[in-house]
Amino acid sequence: MSALVIANWKMNGALSAIETFAEAWASVVVPDDVHIVICPPYVYLSAVREAMPRGVQLGAQDCAGHKAGAFTGDVAADMLVESGCDWVIVGHSERRQYHAETDEQVAQKARLAQEAGLCAVVCVGEQLAQREAGEHKQVVSGQLVGSLDGVGLENLVVAYEPVWAIGTGHSASPQQAEDMHRWIKDCLMTRYGANAQQIPVIYGGSVKPETAAELFACETIDGALVGGASLEAISFAEIAQAGASGRN
Ligand code: PEP
Repeated sequence: MSALVIANWKMNGALSAIETFAEAWASVVVPDDVHIVICPPYVYLSAVREAMPRGVQLGAQDCAGHKAGAFTGDVAADMLVESGCDWVIVGHSERRQYHAETDEQVAQKARLAQEAGLCAVVCVGEQLAQREAGEHKQVVSGQLVGSLDGVGLENLVVAYEPVWAIGTGHSASPQQAEDMHRWIKDCLMTRYGANAQQIPVIYGGSVKPETAAELFACETIDGALVGGASLEAISFAEIAQAGASGRN
């Protein structure tokens, strides 16, 4: 399976920064067998689509839990497809935390995303206190049950993102990540049967060029969801390059 490396720019960037990013990206070589996805803020989707080469796919950071209607500020999955997206992140811990999104809402978004033809990247991950209490596996398996309710296994990626590792500079160790990815893959087998093997499970949480290679070397890590280090083209490219060599 080739590595999947997704940039989550969160609420960062500017039109001028996209030009700078694209210029720097043009100077790097990213192996063909690494799938690159960039998820900018909604308003920059078309600018990224125009600035980046064809091989780089476009994703959004969220979508609405409704198809259309009076939902001010929301953006429907069908609209993302029209804007050139192939991917959407749902259930990111920042959405769960700051917008009180529940597993049920995440599942609804993932179902609508898949219906629209998008690949849904469903995020799960425990908080620090839950890990310290030894509850991380139960927390994550509970999130998977709720967030994948009615969600198909085609066009599905699961992102394991321990909340304590996001934006903190403290990545999970390869052992911690490997252990959780195995657990998640087992949960997916229980949920979907043997075909669950085709669902990529990617890791997110302070992935940096220096730590990417050892993460990608883990058998159960199929890629990375990258926040901070994806804002700068060269560091994101170095992570993508580690993705290629780590899978060989
Ligand atoms: C994220 O927000 O999905 C993320 C992994 O962020 P960071 O890489 O900055 O920890």
